Amino acid sequence: MNELDNPIQRSDGFGIDNLPYAVFSAHNQQKRIGVRLGTKILDLGFLEESGLIPDTPRSSVFNSPNLNALAELGPVYWLQFRLWLKDFILNPASGLQQKKRWLKALVPLDQITLYLPFQTRGYTDFYASEQHARNVGALYRDPANALLKNWKHLPVAYHGRSSSLVISGTPITRPHGQILMASAGDPAFQPSRKLDFEIEVGFYIGQGNQLGWPIPIETAEQHIFGLVLVNDWSARDIQSFEYQPLGPFLGKNFATSVSPWVVPWAALQPFRQAMPQPDIPVAAYLAQANRSTFNIPLKLTLKTASGYSQTIIKTNFANQYWSMAQQIAHHTINGCNLEIGDLLASGTISGTEPNSWGSLLEISQDGRQPLQLANGENRSFLADGDEVTISAVCQNSDKIVSFGEVKGKILPSLSL
Ligand code: CA
Repeated sequence: MNELDNPIQRSDGFGIDNLPYAVFSAHNQQKRIGVRLGTKILDLGFLEESGLIPDTPRSSVFNSPNLNALAELGPVYWLQFRLWLKDFILNPASGLQQKKRWLKALVPLDQITLYLPFQTRGYTDFYASEQHARNVGALYRDPANALLKNWKHLPVAYHGRSSSLVISGTPITRPHGQILMASAGDPAFQPSRKLDFEIEVGFYIGQGNQLGWPIPIETAEQHIFGLVLVNDWSARDIQSFEYQPLGPFLGKNFATSVSPWVVPWAALQPFRQAMPQPDIPVAAYLAQANRSTFNIPLKLTLKTASGYSQTIIKTNFANQYWSMAQQIAHHTINGCNLEIGDLLASGTISGTEPNSWGSLLEISQDGRQPLQLANGENRSFLADGDEVTISAVCQNSDKIVSFGEVKGKILPSLSL
């Protein structure tokens, strides 16, 4: 008996209701696509090679180093394939006929290497949590006017750097930069003393739009392939000196970590949650009837160099003011073209309670109130050797869908 004898009942969130995609390699073979089933990955490349996947419009959809080719086939194919895959998993003998081949297609997770799921040419990071925007505005500017005038008129964002997206597990080297040590005087060039994380959720674009042609809000969700966890590493001292007037640059673009498992859009539908209407009227292209998001509980665990581990934040993806459809509609309203594989991230997700704030900047109030850990250590910002893990599991009365985790460990700065 193995756990796949009853994949529906899996309690780890990697059963038949999820089937998240990943790019992996095993046994020195080329990168290919798989879906996670419990503690194994189902090698879709192998199934494709074996001629077991019916009606693939192209020869190498799953023997591919990224998910771009699958995404290109469009949302109708994504759903059709998902239905076929569920049936295939639940009735493996009907397709494979030989148990040996079925077992060969299942590779234990400890035998694989995971990679970034998409080839991404565009990475955009929104700023969609009102509590986060208020917290940061109060710390960096003026508590009385923490939210700038634009914030409730449009989903604020910046263009990030796709070349420094890294897969979960990649170590993060503490960056150097120009840092203002006192409000007067010149900046010093030195390693960041305010290295931080940001809890975020990202969605991958599965269908783009032609340059010049905005995506209407009514059909915006059809462009989303699936969701992942994102940690937008941030050097607050570099960021705070450089960010005006054009926004984040070297304080952000040294690394952004992404989780390997892309949870399909279809798998998240049981976790839809209504969003309230915006506080003020919005432009017509942003007006969305029945706004909704997903109930995705997120947690962040900090493991220090001493080996001590503590969950320090619990928050939820639903703590957003702007919906994903509004973000897509806004991103393209000027004619900007989204492309297959683009990653759009939520921005730091903070709830109303301090233990739901999604960055150390907010929790420690820029270092003025260090976070006390239960073992006696404290943190204003990240120390060398700290390992940060963000994870998420969606659950309701009859379904459980896990995102897995995105993790990264802080390495000391280089000697420059
Ligand atoms: Ca961010």
